[in-house]
Amino acid sequence: MNYLKSETRNWQLILIFGLPTLLLTNYYIMKQFDLQKIAIILAVIFLSGSVFAQKWEPVLTEIWEPVPVNVTPGKGTAPPSDAVVLFDGTNLAKWEKEDGSDAGWNVGNGILTIVPGTGSIQTRQSFGDIQLHIEWRAPFDVVGAGQGHGNSGVILQKRYEIQVLDCYENTTYVNGQTASVYKQYIPLVNACLPTGEWEVYDIIYMAPRFNDNGTLFAPATVTVLHNGILVQNHVEIKGTIEYIGLPRYEKHDLKQPLLLQDHENSVSYRNIWLREL
Ligand code: MG
Repeated sequence: MNYLKSETRNWQLILIFGLPTLLLTNYYIMKQFDLQKIAIILAVIFLSGSVFAQKWEPVLTEIWEPVPVNVTPGKGTAPPSDAVVLFDGTNLAKWEKEDGSDAGWNVGNGILTIVPGTGSIQTRQSFGDIQLHIEWRAPFDVVGAGQGHGNSGVILQKRYEIQVLDCYENTTYVNGQTASVYKQYIPLVNACLPTGEWEVYDIIYMAPRFNDNGTLFAPATVTVLHNGILVQNHVEIKGTIEYIGLPRYEKHDLKQPLLLQDHENSVSYRNIWLREL
């Protein structure tokens, strides 16, 4: 059926484009009798006929290689078979302080909780392009307001922060609220659950590329789902997160650690895994 439709379309195209071309050709032949032009025009007519006469078959648009590798999905939010599991609820073996010493956060009941003042923690391993899954929870006993309301941060490559903050009935500057690319991009919506419930980020991050002379070749990009809702749609990160001043890029290696921010609030984390892209 599709084949017949395709053939009919070819004839329609020949009538639409071929016939006027032929008439124009005759006109010019009669007018100028220029042999070189006649040869060019005849060649164009011949090639056009060949293109229109080509018959499209389904097989012409089928690609069979490369075959994607098999990955077994996890049940629910469990890590898939090719994931790097960064925290499975048992220990902090994959994490360290920024100075390389053991991470000082608390592990208990399958969750990881910031001990305020002990410092941010980062992965021992470095990563470039990733798909990251991470779950977090603001403390029940919120003491601060605005930026003090369960503040932490998922800081990609130690430079580019996806804000962790409890913005359920909590107001702050919108480019610093939950799931903002801190001080760069406002989230598309506020998808926060009530204070004390577990929140989920799924992040697709492409690391920036730099030229040999240190200039930027391609900016980092990030897509963020907050509780399954799109909040950052493939935005181009403008540079390193700055609390004061404007972001800017500084050349770094393609792979860098992932950092979780200690912002003096006892935010908890669980079920952290990523896939390298
Ligand atoms: Mg933060």
